[in-house]
Amino acid sequence: MQLANKSEPVVMTTNAAGPVAPLHDSGSQNSPAHFFNKGNRMKILRAEHLGMCFGVRDAIALAKAQAAQQPVTILGQLVHNESVLADLRQKGVRTAEQLDSVTTPMVLITAHGTSQRNLAQIRERGFEVFEATCPLVKHAHNSVMKLARAGYHPVIIGQRNHVEVRGLTGDLDAYDVVLTEEDIAALPPRERFGVASQTTQPIARVRELVAAIKERFPQSEVRFVDTVCQPTKQRQQAAEEIAQQSDVVVVVGGANSNNTKELVNTCWRFCPYVHHVQGPADLKAEWFAHADVIGLTAGTSTPDDVIDAVEARLHELTENHQPNTQIQQEEKTHELATLL
Ligand code: SF4
Repeated sequence: MQLANKSEPVVMTTNAAGPVAPLHDSGSQNSPAHFFNKGNRMKILRAEHLGMCFGVRDAIALAKAQAAQQPVTILGQLVHNESVLADLRQKGVRTAEQLDSVTTPMVLITAHGTSQRNLAQIRERGFEVFEATCPLVKHAHNSVMKLARAGYHPVIIGQRNHVEVRGLTGDLDAYDVVLTEEDIAALPPRERFGVASQTTQPIARVRELVAAIKERFPQSEVRFVDTVCQPTKQRQQAAEEIAQQSDVVVVVGGANSNNTKELVNTCWRFCPYVHHVQGPADLKAEWFAHADVIGLTAGTSTPDDVIDAVEARLHELTENHQPNTQIQQEEKTHELATLL
C-alpha cells in the first residue's frame, strides 16, 4: 500500500455533524478505481486494539465511586466523550472547566494528570483533591522530572496546550514543547536535551522528531525516554494494520480527543478515505458505496457501546451493498449493450 507523501497538501472537509472526511490524492493505487478491482464481499475489519484504555476506564470508575460517597467535581474533561459525561452527570458527578466554578469540597483530577504546583494551588484554595491520574501519565511525569534533575533540558513532544502537556511541564522552570520539525529548528542550543513525549503521540512520529533533534544538535547529548503509553502504541499499530487492508476507515471518538485525531492521521497514511465520527448518526451511506473492506477503530475514550453502535450501523448501511464484482459485471454488461 502506498504511503501518502507527508509534504503533499492535505485537504480536510468537515460536515455539520462533525465527522472529518479527508480528501487526499495519494496516487492511482489508492484511487477510487482501485476499489473496483477487488472481488471480495464487503466486510468490516475491527482493529485488534481499539477504544477505551484502562486509564480512562479506571478514572471513570473512580469518579463514580467518589460520587457515591460525597459530591465531587471533575476539573476539566475526564473523557472527550459526551455519552460518558452524560452518564457521569446522571450519577451525580459534576464537571467544571475552572476551579472558580467548583462548588463541591472535593475536586477530581482527570486521567491526564496535573502538576504538583497545580495540586498545591487547588489544596491552598481549601479543596480536597482526588487524583484519578493514569499511572502511565504519572510515569511520564516521573521520567521528565528525572531528566530535569539529572541536568537535561526537558523537551516534550506533544501539543503545547493539551492538559496532559500542561501537567508534564507545570513543575518545570525551563522546558520546550515541540510537535514539528519547524519547532525543532527554533530550539536554542543546549548541551544536554532530555526528550519525553505526551503519552498519546504516535511512537513512529516521536522517533522521527527525536532523530531530528539529534540531527540539528550533533554536538549535544540527546537522551530520549519513551513515555508513549502501551495502549496508545497498540491502538496505533492495530489502526495501521486495518488501514493497510481497508478501502475506507471509520475512526470513532470525541471531536476534541487528541488520540482519536492521531488515529485518523495514522490511518490516513495508509488509506485515503478516513472518516472521524463521534457516533452512528454521523455515518453516511455514500462513504461506503464502493468499498469492499471497511476498517473500524476508536480512540481511548470511546466507550464500547458507542463502537458497537457504529459497527451495527455500518452493517445496516451496507446491508444491500453490492459486491464490487457485481457492480463491475453490471458495468461491463452495460458497456457491451451500448456497443451492440
Ligand atoms: S491513553 Fe494511555 S496514558 Fe492516557 S489514560 Fe489511557 S492508558 Fe493512560
